[in-house]
Order: sequence, then C-alpha cells, then structure tokens
Amino acid sequence: MDISFILKKYYGFSTFRPNQREIIDDIVAGNDCLVLMPTGGGKSLCYQIPALAMPGTAVVVSPLISLMYDQVEALKANGIAAEALNSGNDMNQDLIIKRRCLAGDIKLLYMSPERLIAEIPFLLSEIKISLIAIDEAHCISQWGHDFRPEYSQLGILHDRFPQTPIVALTATADKVTRQDIIKQLRLRVASDNHIYISSFDRPNLSLSVRKESGKAEKMRVIIGYIERHPDDAGIIYCLSRKTTESIADYLRKRNIRAEAYHAGMSASERSRIQEQFKTDQTPVVCATIAFGMGIDKSNVRWIFHYNMPKSIESFYQEIGRAGRDGAPADTFLFYSLADMIQLRRFANDSGQREVNLEKLQRMQDYAESSVCRRRILLNYFGEQSDHDCGHCDVCLSPPRKFDGTQVIQKALSAMARTDQRIRFGTVIEILRGMASTTVVQNGYDHIKTFGVGRDISTTEWQDYLLQMLQMGFIEVAYNEGDIIKITPSGQDILYGRKQADLAIHRKSEPVGRKETKRALRQREQTEMAASQIFPEVHASRVEDANLFAALRQLRSALAQAQGFPAYIVLSDKVLHALATDKPTTKEQFGNIPGIGEYKQKKYSDAFIQVIKRFV
Ligand code: ADP
Ligand code: ZN
Repeated sequence: MDISFILKKYYGFSTFRPNQREIIDDIVAGNDCLVLMPTGGGKSLCYQIPALAMPGTAVVVSPLISLMYDQVEALKANGIAAEALNSGNDMNQDLIIKRRCLAGDIKLLYMSPERLIAEIPFLLSEIKISLIAIDEAHCISQWGHDFRPEYSQLGILHDRFPQTPIVALTATADKVTRQDIIKQLRLRVASDNHIYISSFDRPNLSLSVRKESGKAEKMRVIIGYIERHPDDAGIIYCLSRKTTESIADYLRKRNIRAEAYHAGMSASERSRIQEQFKTDQTPVVCATIAFGMGIDKSNVRWIFHYNMPKSIESFYQEIGRAGRDGAPADTFLFYSLADMIQLRRFANDSGQREVNLEKLQRMQDYAESSVCRRRILLNYFGEQSDHDCGHCDVCLSPPRKFDGTQVIQKALSAMARTDQRIRFGTVIEILRGMASTTVVQNGYDHIKTFGVGRDISTTEWQDYLLQMLQMGFIEVAYNEGDIIKITPSGQDILYGRKQADLAIHRKSEPVGRKETKRALRQREQTEMAASQIFPEVHASRVEDANLFAALRQLRSALAQAQGFPAYIVLSDKVLHALATDKPTTKEQFGNIPGIGEYKQKKYSDAFIQVIKRFV
C-alpha cells in the first residue's frame, strides 16, 4: 500500500510533516533509523505507517503500561489492529493476543522492554516481525535524564533479529545521549545516514518565566489564568508532594476541580486521577514530575511550573505535554532562589553530581535569560537557531541591547588562542588579566587576549558569556570536563562575518502589571507561528464559538458512551476545524484533516446533524 494512501485512509491527513516521509521510506526499505522529534512532533506515525505498509507485526517497546494503552486505544479508534502484551493482562488475554499474532491479525504489538526480552523465543518462533520500534529511546542512556535499567538489555535485539529494521525514537536527546543510543542499540546508522533530527521548535507553545517565591502571588497568577480559561485542562508541576497537596486544596476551596498527584499515593488512586484527567472530569492536576509521562492526552492546554525543574530536558518534556494536538497552549515557569537551593542539594546528593549540577545551571540560565527563550531551548538541543521567535515573554518585552560584536570577539578570541581547552572561569581570568594558577601554569598570561576585557566586571562577563551560550556561539562539552567550544556561528562572529547584539547587563526585574494584555498578544503570535510551521494548520479563520461548544458537548457524550477520553474521539484541533469549516456532507466531513475513513464512517452523521443546526 502506498504510504500517502495510508496516511489519508487511517489518519485523515494529506501531507507529511518534515522528515516523516523519509523516515517511513527508510524503515520500509529495511533500514535502522534514529528519530529525534519533539513531543507532539508526530513520531508515532513514523513507525505506525511502516507497520501498516509492511507484512507482519511491528513490535513497539514502550516504558509504561499507561502509555501503551493510550497508543493502542488511539490506534483502535482509527481502525488499526493493535494490542499490548503486559502485566495488566491475564494469561488468557495474552494467549488470545499471541494467537492473533500467529494468524497475522495484529499490525502493532506494544510491550515493555523486559517483556520483549522475555518474549524473544515466541517472537522468533512463528510470527513475522515487520520492524521493532523503541519508543522513549533515551531511557537506554545514563546520559539521558530518564535512565531505565530495563532498557539496557535491548542491545541484544540486533543479534537476535538481524534482518529486522530497528527504529529508535525520542523527544529528548542531546549529542552525547544520541551517540549512546546508537551504540547501545547497535543501530546500523551513520552520522549522515538514517539519523533524522527534526526541529525541536514547538511554535504552538507560548513561553513565560517569572521570578516569584511567594505562594500568594503565584496562586493569584494561576487562579487568574484558570478563571480566564475555565474549559481548558492543565497541569501544575511542583517540586514536593506536600506542595501538590496544598495547592490542590487551595484551588478546590476556590471551586476549581483540582487534584494532587504524586508517587506517595497508592497506584489505584493515581490511576483514578489519571483517568479523570484524561476524560476532563478533573481539569487541573497538581503533580510532581511523576505525572504526565504516562499519558498521551492531546488537549492539555496549559502548564505551570510552580517550581523550577531540574534540567532543561525535564522542563521541555513537561511543557511538551501541552498542545500535543498542535493547537496553541500556554506555559509558565516560576522560579526562586529557594528552588535553586533545594535543587542544588538534590543534584549534589545524586549519583551523577557533576552532570546534574551542570544541567541545573543551564536551567537557571534559561530562567534568568535576557535573550529569546525559544532560541535558548533550540540551541540547547543542538539546533543553531539564528533568529528570535517573536512570541516568548522576552521577545515581547525585550531588554535593552547594544552592539556586542567586539565584546563577543574578545571572549571567543581568548578561547581560540587557548585551543578551546578552557572553562568559563579561566576565560574570564584571561579577559580580566588575572594571573591565577591555571593561567600562569599554562602560560595564558602571554597570549594576546590577556587583559583585553579589564574594563568589564567579572559579573558582567558571566552574563555576556551566558548570553553567548544562549545565542549558540559557544557550547559546553560536558564529556570533556566542561570545556567551552566555539560553534560555527561563533566562528562567524570571531572572523567578522556576522555581528551580534548583547543585552545590557541588569538585575532581573519583576514582570509588569500589564500581564493580561501581553498574554493576549502572546497567544495571537503563538497561533500565527504554529500555522507557519505545520503544513496542515491553516491560519485561523473565523470559528463559530457556539458551534464549537455544541460539538464539544457531542464529543464528550460520544466519548462517555464508549468509555474513552474525548480527545480519542476527535482532537481539539479537529473540533476547531469543524467549527470553522462547518462540513455538512459525509465527504466534506472526511476531508477535515485528522479524520480518517474509520472515524468518517463512525461519526459523520452525528456531527453533521449538529453542524446543520448552525449553518
Ligand atoms: P509524538 O509521538 O511525537 O509526541 P504524535 O505521533 O502523538 O507525536 O503526534 C502528535 C500529533 O500530531 C497527533 O495529534 C498527530 O495526529 C499529529 N500529526 C502527526 N503527523 C501529522 C501529519 N503528517 N499531519 C497532521 N497531523 C499530524
Ligand atoms: Zn522569543
């Protein structure tokens, strides 16, 4: 079957997103692949479509049972035969699933890594495996932020299934983790071949940060937001279990349906809250990071970080849980010195002190930054983004700047003249002309750059170097003792091919009072940016708000009747499209992006009936 045909038939889309087609073709040709795409970027299609196009069953490794169920549910809702083998099934269910695999009835079979290893004899026996997909592949690496020992065993797969293509997928992997995934899984990929790195930009997410330590003020902001968006679901991430409970209490006293969620609660309690969140009965969950990993709810519309996360990877993954359907979503981060101190302690006591402290530092840098936040995130993930996004809080209320080319050149030159073998501290010592032990022992006091930055204070230099890091002119090599390297765009500045501005150093100021107005502008900008990057998004036309409300009601009734979450019936984005395009025939209904044949058959009558009342 042609893959464009599959895309339309099962998923209702007519265009692939960047890289999807190439990845799918590569897998179908029998090759291994490494796929890096942000959450919500469209990874699942990359192995699901090959699974449908190739003979046999695709085995998909996933770290959590709840995730598997979500995926299986979503696949079935599109008319695709998928199942999961896991500890939640009884023996009989497992047996039935296996028999269906033998009969060639199942296209996708999900399981945990340990289960996959245990099932190797069965998988090798009679069933035909089309491909093996390893989801959340960063879990295999100790360098990643979510190492899971069970993943380590997956290294043997290639020996056991030498003919089967293996595709590893992840939403978070820096260079080091990426290399480690390839090595551990023994993927047959080369640096210029079979590795697909999509842009990590999530243009539909707005980004705002605020320095704030008081509970009263944080809650004022949060409640204000929730009251302005009463129909939207969101998550408030906190550092401690106690905080999740006290905030949930606080919100409930103000008639907001909120629950706490953390690892100290019983498994049944946790899964109850997760279910209620998925089905919109509890729109607000106050959680420790334990929450969210296991759910695929596509219509999470906002995220608050009540406390600062421990790394940019965690932060990006957590905000990534918002807006997976591609419709605009808002994210806010509060940070305070108290958070920093606590997180620093965690990092110090952790098994990997150095790495974790460095990661925390980068998170702090992000929070305190005076350059475009999206740019920082993208540069952190190795994308050299060379322009400001125009719709984060910094872009919308920018700090004052000056032509920093010369200042930057001085710093880069200090690095170049020491063969890029030194750390931040030494760079500053050289620039400021300080004859420290390191400087003298290595003869750095004799290089031309020594002392050229005396007129700038150490604190200012720290800020400027930070901005250089954030703008992607330099990068830190964690695996080489944190020395600093000059990137290609840094070389451009150093050799005078490009110029760059620096933000004037200043103490961080509290965000102004005009928050609501600015938030509105941000939302508009976010919407526009999203429609520019995803081919399937059209710049928003006028949508009928009353029709949307009616469609939403119908969706929730249909979902309840079938016992699954509303977004499985149709996503928020599809609902918005229906409220805008108002299709009144079965055919028009089927042409809405995101409605495949199965959903067209199943739902067109009910939805058209409602739409007709509004045209
Ligand atoms: P990930 O697994 O990377 O987090 P998903 O595979 O769940 O992302 O996809 C995120 C959203 O994007 C889903 O709602 C999916 O339907 C949508 N999507 C994926 N590919 C396309 C495409 N080619 N056109 C339109 N929407 C797409
Ligand atoms: Zn920006």
